[in-house]
Amino acid sequence: MQGLMQRTPLLLSSLITHAARNHAGREIVGRSVEGPVVRTNWGEVEGRAKRLANALARLGVREGERVATLAWNTQRHLELYFGAIGSGVVLHTINPRLFQAQIEYMLEHAEDQYIFFDLSFAALVSALAPRIKGVRGYIALTDRAHMPAIDLPNLLCYEELLAAESAQFSWPDLDENAASILCYTSGTTGNPKGVLYSHRALLLHSFCAAAADGLGLSCMDSVLTVVPLFHANAWGLPFAAAMCGAKLVFPGAELDGGSLFALTRDEACNVVAGVPTVWFGFFDYIDRNRDKLDLGVFHLDRALVGGSAAPRSLIARFDRDFGAFLLHAWGMTETSPIATIGRLLPKHAGLDREARYDIQAKQGRPVYGVEVRIVDDAGQELPRDGVAVGHLVVRGPWVTAGYFRGEGGVVVDAENWFDTGDVATIDSDGYVTLTDRAKDIIKSGGEWISSIALENAAIGHADVLEAAVIGIPHPKWVERPLLLIRCKEGKVVTRQDMRDFLADKVARWWLPDDVIIVEDLPHTATGKLSKATLRKLYANHQIAPESAPAAAP
Ligand code: AMP
Repeated sequence: MQGLMQRTPLLLSSLITHAARNHAGREIVGRSVEGPVVRTNWGEVEGRAKRLANALARLGVREGERVATLAWNTQRHLELYFGAIGSGVVLHTINPRLFQAQIEYMLEHAEDQYIFFDLSFAALVSALAPRIKGVRGYIALTDRAHMPAIDLPNLLCYEELLAAESAQFSWPDLDENAASILCYTSGTTGNPKGVLYSHRALLLHSFCAAAADGLGLSCMDSVLTVVPLFHANAWGLPFAAAMCGAKLVFPGAELDGGSLFALTRDEACNVVAGVPTVWFGFFDYIDRNRDKLDLGVFHLDRALVGGSAAPRSLIARFDRDFGAFLLHAWGMTETSPIATIGRLLPKHAGLDREARYDIQAKQGRPVYGVEVRIVDDAGQELPRDGVAVGHLVVRGPWVTAGYFRGEGGVVVDAENWFDTGDVATIDSDGYVTLTDRAKDIIKSGGEWISSIALENAAIGHADVLEAAVIGIPHPKWVERPLLLIRCKEGKVVTRQDMRDFLADKVARWWLPDDVIIVEDLPHTATGKLSKATLRKLYANHQIAPESAPAAAP
């Protein structure tokens, strides 16, 4: 027997309709690429998204076709999220930090019809244009006064395009499984692969992101969205915020600690979201300007941090400086992205701070909708005992079933489990602790050393800004850990200091055989430490003679 409820399709356009009708005046604030902070609201975003939908139709972009963005987090990029997607056009959000050759590949592979770009990327677009055949036009996300002086075929001005259109548009009744966003993952080897999200997947993901045991979002929240709109849908924040009428605050192209500090303060942000590197910069700014700054005026309550492991020291900093709870989440482009979130359980109520930080440093428990488990090399499930280490596999309605155009072949098993490429433990409460990417784990004397755990321990040192651990070949132990650290400005940490500091924090045989102080550490386009680059750079590194390899187990 069938139920008798309405079969309303789960479409992302319903979110902007809801936000505009019920939270029209709730602000969207962002630093524009032109410079000033600009203010709009959900009502205006809807009107402009509809103008954009009309413009796309006039340009001849049809349902299912792709348009690309090369853009920062701004109100215009948000309009594209709703205007393009709502009208059935697929929004291909490109990470502008990728290599030009990768961007070219993605534009060709996606067959993008138009490229919407921020002024910051005018030179990049000029360089790409002669090489990309299928693109029909380029739309600069600015007004006439700021149009870039570049010579491009079919160069259009976004504000003029919108001004010429009506703000009346009826969102089409799409199939809820229709594609909405296309986002390529940038593996360290091979071509990027496209993850193609459906409306249904991202709408369900919004419920999970907003839920009390997710981000706990409401119309009372003001959310600084540092995580880019071009990276895994900004962790679903634009959609979740529209669902509850939360205020969104966008940093534009200004991602340095000082700018983020000012925006968080001035816009009374109580929620912030971004990768750890961003917050290292934020707290470094605070450290360097401590006597001039008043932290007492902040409203910060929670920081959503993921993309790389949030070290314990960062968890403590948010707590100490702002009384804010760092919500540690894990996910990937292929999981839309939220899969686990580090909320506490009732039994943790009485924990002291230090014990609570230990729980927060784990990558969290699965949100409803995503199932997780760890398996051995043969695919057999391993126990949830917090000790067994295995390949982390996931499945659920917002987990990918396969990449765009079948790249990479079949990526899920017969029961839909997707191998994340991460290695983890799961404890009896369901908390996932990531030990490594499978390819980064250090195999020493037949045992595994977690580079993430070592990095987190090293970064706990007061003078260390950032740390990276890679395995380097060793004649006896196969691989041994090499620690690279970037010190805070004006601070010096020696190799011996670091080994002494780590001595009571990790097993003796985990102690890095060498510690190198570096000026800078390489990052990938998504802000993660680039271990592949480091492995290449230090492939022939000789362990310092006085460093006797520690005893393996
Ligand atoms: P991306 O698809 O670029 O978002 O990258 C996803 C990958 O980032 C995951 O497979 C993990 O290796 C890593 N990652 C994401 N969140 C975390 C986290 N909280 N801790 C450690 N690594 C993470």
